[in-house]
Amino acid sequence: MNLTNYHSHTSFCDGRAPMADFVKEAVRQGFTSYGISSHAPLPFPTRWTMEKEDVMSYIEEFKGLKNEYQDKIELYIGLEIDYLDELSNPSVEYFQNLPLDYRIGSVHLLSDDKGEIVDIDCSKENFKERLENYFRNDLKATVLAYYDRSMSMVELGGFDIVGHTDKIAYNASFCQPGVTEQSWYKQALRDLFAFISEKGYMMEINTKAYHKLGVFYPNVSNFSLVRDMHISVLVNSDSHYPELVNDGRIEALQALKAAGINSVMELVAGKWQENPILD
Ligand SMILES: [Zn+2]
Ligand SMILES: [Zn+2]
Repeated sequence: MNLTNYHSHTSFCDGRAPMADFVKEAVRQGFTSYGISSHAPLPFPTRWTMEKEDVMSYIEEFKGLKNEYQDKIELYIGLEIDYLDELSNPSVEYFQNLPLDYRIGSVHLLSDDKGEIVDIDCSKENFKERLENYFRNDLKATVLAYYDRSMSMVELGGFDIVGHTDKIAYNASFCQPGVTEQSWYKQALRDLFAFISEKGYMMEINTKAYHKLGVFYPNVSNFSLVRDMHISVLVNSDSHYPELVNDGRIEALQALKAAGINSVMELVAGKWQENPILD
């Protein structure tokens, strides 16, 4: 029944519960496979990423759970790794050498003119404020900078899944309704999707905000493009709370089917497999 999720945080980063609680809830809900993907360390401390010195205990804790639950669920370990710049991104040796089952590549951060790092993966109100305070209220330049980083991330590679593609759409649309319909926006999105397709990366349909904000990342209006570009997809809940491991999954699967996408990627015995979406 496509009961899988590979995007899940834990108290090693900004997840609100220990790793075991997410696993227990996934087992309780009948998931067949489940992946843990805390925020990877950045070159500086933040309140939402893991510290580098904790990475090995993260992997060790996972190994214990994988062993404990081996008869109940397939468990996998990954990281959600930021594309920050050439030196800190999924492709760097440090992340490549970690014993992970998979990696998610995401963009949460941009730099302003002075090189200051700004988190744009925030509430719409904070985004609007940051746009004014750091980016001269230039929405187009900011969106294009986000797309530029996403393109650089895909170019360098080193990951399996593109995390929440076009997540900036929601905040950008709050600042300027209709912005995603402008030709420059559509072109940037189309170029990124084409590049993801060309490189053969999987794209997640991120359901984290679906019940709160009514959108997927990427949103349903772009599913036909995903289909036409033959991009492999999977549905991930990006859960920070155990009770949300299954949040929005059914709705996303239905929306994919409605758009003519009939399969999703799932890890089976350690290999990515394209499985049909079951009713
Ligand atoms: Zn993320
Ligand atoms: Zn996440």
